Amino acid sequence: TVEHPASGQAPVLAMHNIRHAYGQHVALEDISLEMQPGEVVCLLGPSGCGKTTLLRIVAGLEVLQQGSMAFNGTTISAPGMAHVPPEKRNVGLAFQDSALFPHLTVLENITFGLKSLPGRERRRRGMELLEQLGMKQFASTYPHTLSGGQQQRIALARALAPEPQLMLLDEPFSSLDARLRDRIRDDTLHLLKKVGAGALLVTHDPEEAMFMADRIALMHEGHILQMGTPRELYCAPRHPFVVSFFGDVNDLEGEVKNGAVETPVGSVTAPGLAEGCRVQVMIRPEALNVTELDEPALHRRSHIIMAKLLGRTSLLHICAHDTQGHESHLHARMPGVFLPAEGQPVSIQLDPSQVFVFPLNLVAAGA
Ligand code: ATP
Repeated sequence: TVEHPASGQAPVLAMHNIRHAYGQHVALEDISLEMQPGEVVCLLGPSGCGKTTLLRIVAGLEVLQQGSMAFNGTTISAPGMAHVPPEKRNVGLAFQDSALFPHLTVLENITFGLKSLPGRERRRRGMELLEQLGMKQFASTYPHTLSGGQQQRIALARALAPEPQLMLLDEPFSSLDARLRDRIRDDTLHLLKKVGAGALLVTHDPEEAMFMADRIALMHEGHILQMGTPRELYCAPRHPFVVSFFGDVNDLEGEVKNGAVETPVGSVTAPGLAEGCRVQVMIRPEALNVTELDEPALHRRSHIIMAKLLGRTSLLHICAHDTQGHESHLHARMPGVFLPAEGQPVSIQLDPSQVFVFPLNLVAAGA
């Protein structure tokens, strides 16, 4: 039994050194992760990085090959132990394609997993969930009369009804259109927090992960590259992949001199990196604050190549010159409508909190 020092409660889920292969193909390696009661953790990463495989192992849909796993401090999967099937795990599953039972009413769908409760108690629990979702009036209707978003909410309620200690959600919002998706995400998070259920959620969408998660595990080629709060991953990324996964960046190279790296838009400190070290400098487009210069467009002056209005932000392509006169092309993103003309001379201010420096050729796997 593993007790968690901070809360005194055992983690809802503790995975240790999990490895999983499909034939010769290693899908997961060295995966360790703990979730506290009520915590929402997102598995985030590009297609094929192993998110679904990891979720399926937790659900019991995939047999554990190596490593161990405990629910509430009790080991349920380890080498030599018999496989515990999904229905014996007290987890709630809501996958992208979780279909409702068409021949059952909304209420019957929700209470489907509550067979062991007396009828009245089952109904009370079902109606309570419907009320929390604001869908009480649909209790006796059939699924085909509901919209996609409503069906998705009912599927979630069905998974939550048996009060599982842990919800497992695989891309639960991906089949919804953008506007509806925002609302259902909101409702889902609200409901999870209200009932105090922990959830492990798979997504490839960084914004969804940032919205939903207490902590994010960012995965890359079968490894967890970094795990932390949305803020930790966004503001203190420990690997170039973590920076680039959250959006477009300006990727430059440089060398550490006197503890700093010169870039075309100013000097950047490089704490902890050795003198002379070749480095990768990643500058978010939001890090560049561009202002128009009221001067003639001289040679070797930073200027606008192109400006595009994207709606809430304007995207600028800039030709910048460093102190030695070296030229580089950068992207900047400015809030609102900012559309300087092509060739317009500009000055560029750098926000150092949006710039990240890494040793060049940092190896991704196992970092
Ligand atoms: P996606 O977002 O596309 O669903 P994912 O991050 O969930 O991707 P997984 O589905 O876990 O990734 O797949 C991880 C790797 O394992 C991929 O390279 C995939 O091709 C491979 N894989 C997954 N399932 C199987 C299987 N049943 N047999 C063989 N290879 C598989």
